Amino acid sequence: MTSPLEADTDTLYLSVADVIRIVRRKGLPACLAGVAARIERDFLRWHEFDKSARVASHSARGVIELMPIADAEHFAFKYVNGHPGNTRDGLPTVMAFGVLADVATGAPRLLSELTLTTAIRTAAMSALAARALARPGSRRMALIGNGAQSEFQALAFHHLVGVRELRLYDSDAAASAKLLANLAGQDDLDVRVCASVAEAVRGADIVTTATADKTHAVILTPQMIEPGMHINAVGGDCPGKTELHPDVLQGADVFVEFEPQTRAEGDIQQMPADFAVTEFWQVLAGRHPGRTSATQVTVFDSVGFALEDYSALGFMRDAAGELDIGSMLQLLPRTADPKDLFGVLRTSAATSEPKGERAIV
Ligand code: NAD
Repeated sequence: MTSPLEADTDTLYLSVADVIRIVRRKGLPACLAGVAARIERDFLRWHEFDKSARVASHSARGVIELMPIADAEHFAFKYVNGHPGNTRDGLPTVMAFGVLADVATGAPRLLSELTLTTAIRTAAMSALAARALARPGSRRMALIGNGAQSEFQALAFHHLVGVRELRLYDSDAAASAKLLANLAGQDDLDVRVCASVAEAVRGADIVTTATADKTHAVILTPQMIEPGMHINAVGGDCPGKTELHPDVLQGADVFVEFEPQTRAEGDIQQMPADFAVTEFWQVLAGRHPGRTSATQVTVFDSVGFALEDYSALGFMRDAAGELDIGSMLQLLPRTADPKDLFGVLRTSAATSEPKGERAIV
């Protein structure tokens, strides 16, 4: 049984193994749908959140970012990196963890892995945007960039948007082969690997770009764009890192998460400061019509916003509670007298003594 003291200071910890258990028990489609529903609900509360662009520390090989957000009850942050060269060293491009804390006391209530969860929330967000912006009845999607995010994108669009045909392309053929193998056995999903971006994109209703390269890449050119396409641009998410030719943006209606952040990080960083974009919450709230014709080209210029992590952390916390998964972590000192922090150095009850070290006091 948890003592009141423990209940006040202990933090729920969700490891990678815990999140894998949650996803296996609930099923990935249910997790994608559950996170998408949370994001939708939270985006409809847009004005209740204290929002800011993320804080980024850039280096030659990548970026490390902190993503904070809060409403009246909870504060959340994510630590995340983006290092496109990492896979050559056996490390993922994107790695993350995060915290959900009580605003009233500042106590951290949840510490969770967020690498898997980021892939789930990014795909859920993409699917939510496509459900509102892609042509109704969209069935074929081109998926350019077949790395760590790609299975999650493929399955979110299959289960939440109704995509039945996938056309894959990656400059690394092994990445496409991995994606093809991981999607084997998906009923009602026709998957083919293509020899070029142009071949993959031809005839697609939706084009998802999820490539990783720290450069102004031109994955999609204006010649590849067909009337009515919806483009889900996921990989251009950092200053100096884009995927779309500027004329693709010029010829489209562009939707973003949080405009001040996307102006600096999204594909629209290439456009003049007065280039018109719409924050996606406005479409959900019925304040903007979104797609208005079958020939209009729409772009979701995704960069990943802290609110999506807030929603995903809430989903994982509740799922862990429902399934009794996770462990309690003593991240904070336990003290009968909170003013006597020094006292915890003396009391053995405060913490188990670390092996091989002497008590200092
Ligand atoms: P990853 O490194 O696992 O995979 C990226 C893939 O892109 C690799 O297989 C690589 O071979 C391929 N690629 C690179 N350049 C290419 C090109 N010119 N043409 C075709 N393929 C190319 O990375 P990941 O974790 O799958 O992430 C993909 C991208 O999405 C990254 O840029 C990452 O920063 C971004 N991302 C965005 C969000 C968001 O919310 N918008 C969230 C997570 C990741």
